[in-house]
Amino acid sequence: MKRTVWITGASRGIGAAAARAFARDGYQVAVNYLTQHEAAQALVQELCEAGVRAAAYSADVSDRSQVDQMLAQIEADLGGVDVLVNNAGIAIPLTRLVDYTEEKWDRVFRVNIKGMFHCTQAVLPGMTARHHGAIVNVSSIWGITGGPEEVPYSATKGAVVTMTRSLAKEVGPDGIRVNCVAPGIIDTDMNAWLTPEARETIYAATPLRRLGRAEEIAEAILFLGSDRASFITGQILSPNGGYVI
Ligand code: NAD
Repeated sequence: MKRTVWITGASRGIGAAAARAFARDGYQVAVNYLTQHEAAQALVQELCEAGVRAAAYSADVSDRSQVDQMLAQIEADLGGVDVLVNNAGIAIPLTRLVDYTEEKWDRVFRVNIKGMFHCTQAVLPGMTARHHGAIVNVSSIWGITGGPEEVPYSATKGAVVTMTRSLAKEVGPDGIRVNCVAPGIIDTDMNAWLTPEARETIYAATPLRRLGRAEEIAEAILFLGSDRASFITGQILSPNGGYVI
């Protein structure tokens, strides 16, 4: 039986790279997206043309009813979810905490944490019944070290780390592994605002002297989601070029 992976926020960036990586590894792929309908459809078409069963599902992960409807549709189309990749996330342009509005604070937590809670809670009953499953949560180096002018983002990504460890302890006896990838600074649309000077500063602080590529993070996600990591749970893997050691 083919395995199915459900990847949130997968129309672009790290999520889309993860979709391609799982597809190459023989998984059926459920591509969640928020608004980027054309990008998601193009990705699904690309995967289908490569002989992979894949479909796109529009849903806001911060909305519980949309998540439940999405999972019901995925199960109808592709069967039970074997691997959940909680990738959807947002970052707010650099802002000092003193200038944060409550609305922005809540939005970061709703997407980055509540979205993860919704999707995880939705897949657990099926994984528990099958006594098999893997969840990979996407955090960030800022969730480990903290990032200036990114306090709420860092707080959510720190919560992803502790959520990973707590849940791994809770559901390990049910045959479910929970791990986390905490990327360094990756060359995706999320970092499109970086000026050439800001990039140079990052290169100088990174032993490998460059930003990461989405494909490099996707490999880490695939590894932790696959049976190749069958004795690994509750771990944080941080592909960051040596920025944080
Ligand atoms: P991205 O902005 O290209 O991708 C994020 C995706 O999440 C987008 O497709 C977006 O539409 C989707 N999304 C946002 N809100 C959503 C919602 N409510 N429901 C469903 N989907 C939603 O950025 P990326 O760099 O590919 O980021 C992917 C993940 O990696 C995020 O969790 C991000 O925090 C994390 N991350 C990124 C970096 C980096 O440097 N790019 C570093 C560390 C961690």
